[in-house]
Amino acid sequence: MGLDSENYSVVFGYNRLVKETFHIYTRVSTSVQEEDGTSLDTQLELGIERSKKLDMKPRVWNEGSQSSSRDDLSNRPVLTELLQEVQEGSVKHLYVWNTDRLSRNIQTWGLIRLLLIKNDVHLHTPTGEMILSDPQTNLMLGIMSEFSQYDNLIRTERFRLGKLQRIKDGFWKGGPPPYGYRLRDGHLEVDDFESKWVIKIHEMYRDGHTVDEIKDTLMKNGVMTRRDNPVWSLGSINSLLSNTHYDGYWYYTDKKSDQTVRVSCPRICPPELIQGVKSSWDKRRYKKGSNRRTKTGVTKYTYLLSKILKCGHCGSYYYGNYRHGRQSNYYHCGNKTNKYRDKGTENEKVCGSKRNVRIDNTEKVVWDLVKDVLASSHLYKETIKTGVMGTEQSLKGSKDQSIKITKKIDKLQADVQKVTDTIVDLTTQNLLSKDRDLKRVIKRLEETRNQKEVEIRKLTTDLEEIESAGKWVDWLKVWKNRMNDLDKFTPEERHEFLSGIVSEVVVTEHDKQEHKLEVFFRFPYVGDKLVYVDPNKKSKGYKIKNGRKVKSTRYDLLKKFTS
Ligand SMILES: [Zn+2]
Repeated sequence: MGLDSENYSVVFGYNRLVKETFHIYTRVSTSVQEEDGTSLDTQLELGIERSKKLDMKPRVWNEGSQSSSRDDLSNRPVLTELLQEVQEGSVKHLYVWNTDRLSRNIQTWGLIRLLLIKNDVHLHTPTGEMILSDPQTNLMLGIMSEFSQYDNLIRTERFRLGKLQRIKDGFWKGGPPPYGYRLRDGHLEVDDFESKWVIKIHEMYRDGHTVDEIKDTLMKNGVMTRRDNPVWSLGSINSLLSNTHYDGYWYYTDKKSDQTVRVSCPRICPPELIQGVKSSWDKRRYKKGSNRRTKTGVTKYTYLLSKILKCGHCGSYYYGNYRHGRQSNYYHCGNKTNKYRDKGTENEKVCGSKRNVRIDNTEKVVWDLVKDVLASSHLYKETIKTGVMGTEQSLKGSKDQSIKITKKIDKLQADVQKVTDTIVDLTTQNLLSKDRDLKRVIKRLEETRNQKEVEIRKLTTDLEEIESAGKWVDWLKVWKNRMNDLDKFTPEERHEFLSGIVSEVVVTEHDKQEHKLEVFFRFPYVGDKLVYVDPNKKSKGYKIKNGRKVKSTRYDLLKKFTS
């Protein structure tokens, strides 16, 4: 019939941007029962008239003349298209001569009606707006939504079962394949490059290398993770080592049914390698476990001179070896335990010490000496006095923290060195080799190095702050009120206190009987003097003349104490 909205827009001058659209659906039936006054022209005229009354822009959907013998949507292309727009929500007002125009078929009409209600469409007829919603329709709507939920459920279930079946048939479960594999037609397939490294990682672990060493090897060879990171995390290496895929199978558990299926896949590691890794893992775990056991089983003795007492012959720390109930216990030069480890290396030192020293004697001599020095030190008294000005912060906290930070910095510096070596290596390799472009790896490594260097700078600043003298004074403040009662300190407190006052105590064999002890103080407490500005007028104030930092004594540290 050639009528469309464009024509009517022109004829009536409607502003299509502002006005709502009034959809007019027209159709004439070819059936004999056709009533008068329902010609297309009449239907259209009345529709247009209504749109003017409502001040809307008409849009005509003309089905023309269609047989009503098959009264469903299959022979109503224009209606189908219109309903499509209804479903998309772009139709708000629909005009029909009467609902017969939409469909005489009860089911089809029911469907259309539901669609209109769902999309809040106003249905207009020559007699006015039709109310589509009634209790029965609402019930239908409810049932339909139940049905669609049920339908979705069935679909998901079908999907789940289908997926499970596919996995049983050897298809990958989805997501990225494990390192060492790639996907081909939904199946895992061995990746030549990655699988070589999977084997290498397993071999290294079997041969007793630490995960850290494995990480370094990967980096040195420019092996990147799946996320393009040249620095592997320890966690990702550990989890790679526990993947069963490399042993030729993997498990899939269906969460809904809790059913687990074992799926075969191409093997990457030979069975004996897998076995080797397992026993290496067991060994390491056992070692860890036994360490823990010995630590918790024995009451720990707190050595007053731990990390303080040093050997005057070789410079190693002395270590205590206390066993409860033993008559005499000794500190011995650490060189004696280290010498086996360092044998033949440049760390090997020759120690001239021949005798160990008794723990009880040595600790008492050092403790008494320190107490004496502090009791007569003006500088010490002065530090405590001025320390009141500081802020609360224990030395132990700062000390632990600075040890932690120092360790971190050391670790980062070692990392930076490794990364640098790798970059140099790879740059050379890249120049020589033509089949692998390593530029991307090198670039990522340079980024990693920068990050680490920034971190080092930051940590160094932190460290300087913590180690500033101010913190030292703060520590004294915490201890201040207990300084007069040093002997009431617990062994832990004594050790902590001594570490704060003394940097080291050096022990040397003097002769066959005596040892020489040199106590190195952190500040010049030994024999310092208080000097008045004007001895005749003490109110003018005083200065402290620094003493020395070392105090020595000789003692027979082997003899049993008699006092
Ligand atoms: Zn020594």
